Amino acid sequence: MRITDVTTIKLHYDMPVPMADAIHYMPARPTLLVQVHTDGGLVGLGEAAAYGGALASTEAVILNELRDTLLGEDPFTVERLWAKMATRSHQRGRSGMLMMAISGIDIALWDIIGQATKTPLYRLLGGYRDEVTAYASAGFYARDKGVADLAEEVGTYASRGFKHVKIKVGRNPEVLLNPLHAMQAHDYATVSLEEDAERVRAARAAVGPRVGLAIDANNAWTPSIALEFMQGVGEARISWLEEPVSTDDLDGSADVARTLATPVAGYETETGLPGFRDLIARRAVDIVQPDVIWTGGITECRKVAALAQAAGLPVIPHVFSSAVSTAANIHLIASIPNAGLLEFDQNPNPLRDELFEEPFTVSPDGTVSLPDRPGLGVTLRQDTVDRYRV
Ligand SMILES: [Mg+2]
Repeated sequence: MRITDVTTIKLHYDMPVPMADAIHYMPARPTLLVQVHTDGGLVGLGEAAAYGGALASTEAVILNELRDTLLGEDPFTVERLWAKMATRSHQRGRSGMLMMAISGIDIALWDIIGQATKTPLYRLLGGYRDEVTAYASAGFYARDKGVADLAEEVGTYASRGFKHVKIKVGRNPEVLLNPLHAMQAHDYATVSLEEDAERVRAARAAVGPRVGLAIDANNAWTPSIALEFMQGVGEARISWLEEPVSTDDLDGSADVARTLATPVAGYETETGLPGFRDLIARRAVDIVQPDVIWTGGITECRKVAALAQAAGLPVIPHVFSSAVSTAANIHLIASIPNAGLLEFDQNPNPLRDELFEEPFTVSPDGTVSLPDRPGLGVTLRQDTVDRYRV
């Protein structure tokens, strides 16, 4: 079997109300899908993370930089193809958009291997479990969304059976080094640190004592702000503190991780094996969070997971895009022994809920079952693609 083409599908969904995390303003959900075509007729599906800029830029990396490397190649040689893509482009960078682009192609190659061998991808990768526990990823900032609105929102997740919920913190202009100051719509839906503490306490009260509550600062804080904040919300019993400081501040993150009893999780904004090696080796994280569509695909994330396993750390991948990203990440999670939870975004997004003929759904007990079909085990819905295609 040989690769005959690599193509992309650009999708875009406008949010009814823009949302924001600590530093990112999100008026829309852009999505970049990748398809790898073969002479046998099999088509692999992947997704390249599109965070931080125009879909067309990452698309250009896929079509102009990587596509030629793959034409005529055997999709089963995915390790060699990964090395070719990364090595030939190394002067263009070793992370960021290049790694997003490689991720999308890598997932599609693994989808082809699964289809060709008639095996669900997670079983091909080792098949550690058939279902995963999901956590509700939500609690974002939005215009006129107060503490009571947040509490009502997160309460619904607990009542639907989620055993774990995560909310955003960190959209605090008073934190002088907060990257928010340089970001788009930096005045949108901001709160003080004290209001953030109220949001966390209200979320804890809303979910009750038996549901896990995590918080995510999206790189907004300094180590001292993070420690002070956690002291202030100690009684809220936080499951993990995600990306408390800048991704580049490994020493700062390690300080926070060492000082707090609460685990530090991260960093979705890191990419590639060497970046995660450093996070793990310096104990900058207690929970490791690669993302299959961003970190370097299935191929690279398996290695990150193995490094984490050797260090005795769990992996809870970052999952926050279309249904393809859910599919790719859930197969990784189900395949590795040290995986924890599946991040399940609860914000409105038809590109997550309506993209497949076989949508992923959360059972009343908070779990999601793996598909028993070959490869990723999903079929794109043409009507959804047509409606949101750019
Ligand atoms: Mg995060």
